Amino acid sequence: MSIALAILLSAAAMTMIVGVRYLITSGAFAWATRVRHPGLYTGLDPQIRREIWWSLASAAIYGVPAGVVAWGWQNRGWTQIYTDASAYPLWYLPVSVLLFLFAHDTWFYWTHRWMHRPKPFRIAHAVHHASRPPTAWAAMAFHPIEALTGAVAIPLLVFLIPIHVAALGVVLAIMTVMGVTNHMGWEVFPRFMWGGPLGAWLITASHHQRHHERYGCNYGLYFRFWDRLCGTDEGLGDFTRDRARAAARRGRGTADGRNAGRAA
Ligand SMILES: [Zn+2]
Ligand SMILES: [Zn+2]
Repeated sequence: MSIALAILLSAAAMTMIVGVRYLITSGAFAWATRVRHPGLYTGLDPQIRREIWWSLASAAIYGVPAGVVAWGWQNRGWTQIYTDASAYPLWYLPVSVLLFLFAHDTWFYWTHRWMHRPKPFRIAHAVHHASRPPTAWAAMAFHPIEALTGAVAIPLLVFLIPIHVAALGVVLAIMTVMGVTNHMGWEVFPRFMWGGPLGAWLITASHHQRHHERYGCNYGLYFRFWDRLCGTDEGLGDFTRDRARAAARRGRGTADGRNAGRAA
């Protein structure tokens, strides 16, 4: 098989994996939302369809650099991904996960902040903010330009920071779950993760909710470090207004239903 074909197949496989991972994770949390907060997404079907479409397009973009690097790792010994757990001390496993999360968070904070400048916002980032309020399906709802900035982060980091393949799996799992839950419209995590001293440094849904509400603040992904350092942290949002709006949409829905019944 030619190298080009092998790389193409690897990229296609990665696209499939990212797309299916998105559908399963967002689907699971959307289902959890239906159970815990029934009606929260009522009337948002057209928006959800857009979120899924943009997210699957993003999956295709994420798959390309991931596929190229995965091929190079398997066939050319690229990257610092290792499989022998004794190659580094055991304590390095959690440290490598934290290093990856912090580096990814740094990349995300600065590219995200840049995308809030008027021109990049208009061209690219407006797609993500078109979700008002976002749902669990908005995790990867990005314009292709924004998807590209997200897609290169981990494939570049594996060249710079040594990481065990299982630890990389943990990083990807955290990335996926936080991407979905930050947009879900409610807190799935226990209060100590967002309310207490730990919450002063961690980002969960309440923090990212405020970003979607006010735009010019709370740019981070996992940690509040850069937001706090740069004075862009405006604290936690709450979901009361989103819930009131959902209730209003439900009210309109039933009123429309009644009117339709009367008209018939
Ligand atoms: Zn967002
Ligand atoms: Zn934004």
